Amino acid sequence: MNQRQLFLQHVAQTSPAPLALEIVKAAGSSLWDAHGKEYTDLIAGISVCNIGHCHPAVVAAIQQQANQYLHLLVYGELVETPQVAYAQYLIQHLPATLNSVYFTNSGAEAVEGAMKLAKRYTGRTQILAFNQSYHGSTQGALSIIGDEYWRNAYRPLLPDIIHADHNSFESLEWITDKTACVIAETIQAERGVFYPDRAWMQALRKKCTDTGALLILDEIQAGFGRTGSLWAFEQYGIVPDVLLLGKALGGGMPLGAFIAGRDIMWSLAYDPVLGHITTFGGHPVSCAAGLAAMKVLLEGNIIGTVKQKEQLFRDLLKHPAIKTVRTSGLLIAVEFDSFEVNKKIIDRCIENGVLTDWFLFAPRCMRIAPPLTITNEAIEKACRVIVSAIEEQ
Ligand code: PLP
Repeated sequence: MNQRQLFLQHVAQTSPAPLALEIVKAAGSSLWDAHGKEYTDLIAGISVCNIGHCHPAVVAAIQQQANQYLHLLVYGELVETPQVAYAQYLIQHLPATLNSVYFTNSGAEAVEGAMKLAKRYTGRTQILAFNQSYHGSTQGALSIIGDEYWRNAYRPLLPDIIHADHNSFESLEWITDKTACVIAETIQAERGVFYPDRAWMQALRKKCTDTGALLILDEIQAGFGRTGSLWAFEQYGIVPDVLLLGKALGGGMPLGAFIAGRDIMWSLAYDPVLGHITTFGGHPVSCAAGLAAMKVLLEGNIIGTVKQKEQLFRDLLKHPAIKTVRTSGLLIAVEFDSFEVNKKIIDRCIENGVLTDWFLFAPRCMRIAPPLTITNEAIEKACRVIVSAIEEQ
């Protein structure tokens, strides 16, 4: 049996039609399969590899930390220095009120921790989340995601959750002194890249402040320069009470975080003590990799190139079969008539060496979220492949 057959047989599948492409090497914005065929990666592991695959600085940081130690002991007992270094660096690049980092293993765990934190800090139970937002697949995160198709099969889920429309002023009326927190994706990615109006975000911030509800912004997908600024919330002139990070946070290694003010975070430390526990969250190797990746991102002025590359995609992705192109930096949705049309184009692109995908809540939209380091030449080549795949329909 070949690797693909073994994969399908022994590794759990959650889709009836997995792509199952065997990739043996990745570097920058390229992937190579077992036959030596090169693919331009327009997905970046779903917004993970923002500085490209296997950046030498990240690989070196992983090797160095692996030579030092892997896991020691957490829960406040032993200091794992890569966590400290990364928390300090993150905080230096965040507003002053976000000064305490709780590291997790994944994005969904960051969501879970933040939901618990909001309940504990406010003494309230109600959570307001938004239709067509994605926050993860664990039961708490599933309870707040904004799509009944995915939620329904796993009911009963968490009680006391309200779903409202994103970017709707009417939705703000649901936020009251019973609301523990409002959780929003700053940019709704899986909906097919929708960004709210500045006035709405500011009104949301104000309503949370007025009612004492914590505003939790999920930037697990939108953070780390993806949308053209380090954090997407910067574009709205607001600061959340809790920020959720994941994906690119670990530079390709598993890592998530919820970040809040020290005063808020303190409520996890008593009654009960150890209010949130994780053995591996903030693993030293993941933190070392993430710190190295974030330094590359910032010191190389990579984010400064995002808007120009976004425009290049917009200029090149023109065809009558494209209904619309929605972009927020290098988070791009190319909308077609139907999932069937989109899927045929995606499959043809893969045949021709360009890896793209669709969005969970927007199957008729092609996902383009390449490493932010992708070159203009690679963008031009990839767009030529996409447009000719459309022509061939
Ligand atoms: N939040 C958002 C916006 C995401 O896009 C994702 C993952 O796609 C998550 C949360 C969950 O992260 P993870 O898959 O690491 O649990």
